[in-house]
Amino acid sequence: MPRTGEPGEHPAQGTRRQVIEQAGKGAHCPIDPQRIDIAALRTLTYGLYVVTSHNSGRLNGCVVNTVVQVAGEPCQVSVSVNKASLTHEFIARSGSFGVAVLDQETPMPFIGIFGFRSGRDFDKFGKAGYRLGLTGCPLPVENTLAQLEARVRTSVDCGSHTTFIGDVVASRVVKPGRPLTYDYYHQVRGGKTGRGAPTYGLDMSVCDKDERKKKMKKYVCQVCGYTYDPAAGDPDSGVQPGTPFEQLSDDWVCPVCGAGKDQFEPE
Ligand code: FE
Repeated sequence: MPRTGEPGEHPAQGTRRQVIEQAGKGAHCPIDPQRIDIAALRTLTYGLYVVTSHNSGRLNGCVVNTVVQVAGEPCQVSVSVNKASLTHEFIARSGSFGVAVLDQETPMPFIGIFGFRSGRDFDKFGKAGYRLGLTGCPLPVENTLAQLEARVRTSVDCGSHTTFIGDVVASRVVKPGRPLTYDYYHQVRGGKTGRGAPTYGLDMSVCDKDERKKKMKKYVCQVCGYTYDPAAGDPDSGVQPGTPFEQLSDDWVCPVCGAGKDQFEPE
């Protein structure tokens, strides 16, 4: 007995005649938000990468979860980049991009440099070591398992993002290790999704806010997800362990993304 699903849905399986009748109708299928369960999208798996490019001697890069090898012959990778980002502008102009595959134990401040700041007002590669590749793209060397470079073959307009598809012109393994996954970043490291990511708004951690408020001692950066723990302080910025958030100086900033105190909320 073939299953035909809910009224108005395509049959999950059907007779050969039904399949033939449905063929070609997908392009006209209406988009109805009622049929889109965001929880289903949260089950997709990703890695985390720094994608880089250059323009007129300037270097930039940003964290993405959208690097995929899309073909083997010729070897091609794609990356989706938010149109508003400086890295997007650089890739579009230079016709090339670099990729650093991040180590699972990449420190949060390093992710903060590339993931939560804009290259328009911050020199990201002034804070991170790199080497220049064949394409002129900077390739981060710290916290990096592997580096790739690609020459853009084509691009696809995807609305908020452009997907660039490029031929890989060089790649190398930097060191052995486990690559950082999107899931590990969120579930183990407590990271947040940058506003420019295609998956922005899917963080489950946001749903836990009420539960967290019961503790009221730690403060969370609303930009990057960094948690200020008074017990640990912020030794790198000269803040001793045991310093309450309220006693931090007004010019103290988030050690990960540089956001001010006013961007923090009680956990
Ligand atoms: Fe932050």
